[in-house]
Amino acid sequence: MRWSQTLIPTMRDTPKDAEAASHKLALRAGLIRQLSSGVYSYLPLGFRVLRKVLELVRREMLAAGAEEVLLPALHPAEIWKKSGRFETLGEDKISFKNRAGMEFVLGPTHEEVITELVGGSVKSFRSLPVTLFQIQTKFRDEARPRFGVIRTKEFIMKDAYSFDIDEAGLDKNYQKMSEAYKKIFTNCGLSFQIVSADPGLMGGKMSQEFMVICPYGEDRVARSQGDYLASQDIAERKDPGLKTPEAKSAKPEPFDTPNLRTIDEISNKFNIAPGRILKTLIYMADDQPIAALVTGDSEVNENKLKRLAEASRIRQASNEEVRNATGAPVGFAGPIGLKLPLYADWDVVGIADGVTGANEKDKHFKGVSFGRDFQPKVLGDIRYVKDGDDAPDGNGKLELTTTMEVGHIFKLGTRYSESIGAHFLDESGVLKPMIMGCYGIGVNRILAAVIEEHHDESGIKWPKSIAPFEFEIITVNQGDETIVAAAEKIYRELSDAGREVLYDDRDERAGVKFKDADLIGIPMRIVIGERNLKEGNVEVKDRLSGESRVIPLDALLPTYAGTQV
Ligand code: ATP
Ligand code: MG
Repeated sequence: MRWSQTLIPTMRDTPKDAEAASHKLALRAGLIRQLSSGVYSYLPLGFRVLRKVLELVRREMLAAGAEEVLLPALHPAEIWKKSGRFETLGEDKISFKNRAGMEFVLGPTHEEVITELVGGSVKSFRSLPVTLFQIQTKFRDEARPRFGVIRTKEFIMKDAYSFDIDEAGLDKNYQKMSEAYKKIFTNCGLSFQIVSADPGLMGGKMSQEFMVICPYGEDRVARSQGDYLASQDIAERKDPGLKTPEAKSAKPEPFDTPNLRTIDEISNKFNIAPGRILKTLIYMADDQPIAALVTGDSEVNENKLKRLAEASRIRQASNEEVRNATGAPVGFAGPIGLKLPLYADWDVVGIADGVTGANEKDKHFKGVSFGRDFQPKVLGDIRYVKDGDDAPDGNGKLELTTTMEVGHIFKLGTRYSESIGAHFLDESGVLKPMIMGCYGIGVNRILAAVIEEHHDESGIKWPKSIAPFEFEIITVNQGDETIVAAAEKIYRELSDAGREVLYDDRDERAGVKFKDADLIGIPMRIVIGERNLKEGNVEVKDRLSGESRVIPLDALLPTYAGTQV
């Protein structure tokens, strides 16, 4: 491809709103442009990278025995209602009515559609197992699209679904997919970790996330000094074994806190460390109010609370429910005298001279002591883990890292085969629901993740496997006929040999071309300049290692035409 004939609008300056390195570089290198918030166009270089990633993904899916299909993006709302997810999709759902008044959802994922398809087509154990995958655009009205193509409203996903007759079959397919994912991410040049994740969201039994370390990711992973590695969503900690402390005060004393409702407000106004403030949150557990107690520097993990409270559903109480349960508006709840089951985090045991809400508008207590002034119904681990918590496997402290999820694999079980209806007759003629797994990869996110991992201050350093081109030819002076003739020859011969070549044939200063070449990051650069050419040589520079060498023009083709760089 000749630069002059394609569209590579590189930018000198760093775009103002871009924070993540991958976002800045993808814009500056002319890979992407934003159409509206969270909606991007892929330009020729960006789309070439996406296609390379897609080819790698497709190859490994086929090798793992999955067959490709293409499912509709337009889903009748009915099918989402059938699985019960129409509501839970919430505001992320992009839906509308057509002229006949029929409601549609633009597919955010495809468990419902594929289950209906396979359920309608497979009747006997003889046709199972089957694994199908597709590569398609998904639509989610994300509340906060950010960091370029890391979180967008429209993105390409590879989603695969396995259907088995039993758990053993699912285990095998899950393992196969996990192996395929390892190959895909390794081939893309990504360093990744496989992390235990929360299967609850999809209604499954087990799930793992493929995470890359990235400061702009929105996930956090907790790791012990040993093998323990889990998403912060589910990571646990060892009981710190805090002892009930000696109360320093005679009794709790009320004090005025007009309109001070949050931990920050109280902490700032009275100069009290958040760790000494008891946060009391009211939840509805299976429609009954309960109170959760954590220290002011922690966040309640609702899944942990749900487990401790042995509830099947949990949600934060509404303002009115809080008022009914505590007798005070939101922001003034506290454990003293509260007639609700109290679920307290282990941290709370250490509180001797704490501050809590007084269950009265504009009032808090100080001098509050655990044990003396209130007793929880159950003590346990109900908060998100933090850096420095004791690791649950006993191996030192937990360390948290910011990561980005690039892939996710789930054992779904019968969640969808039962609700949508995908049954088969087993060997003895008994009708059973199929056992499902689902496996997703965010293709656009891979592009961003690879840039995050492979760049320097001058630009992108594409791994060879997914680079938009293998070679870039640069003429130092496009006005010099000998240089141009040599460039044309190399361009033609390498292209004829099946190599992917970008020829920077612009009439630009050499400095501009070199800067752009560093920015767009093609692995091999062939520089044709007057001085080298006089001796029959060209310069070849490796963008990854930075090494450059001068080789005879005649040696170029034999060296590079046959093998992929
Ligand atoms: P996240 O927690 O980041 O929102 P998710 O759990 O909603 O991800 P899945 O439904 O498991 O994601 O989708 C599979 C893959 O699709 C994810 O691993 C991720 O790589 C990608 N993905 C999900 N949402 C987006 C998005 N809004 N923009 C780009 N890629 C996305
Ligand atoms: Mg999401």
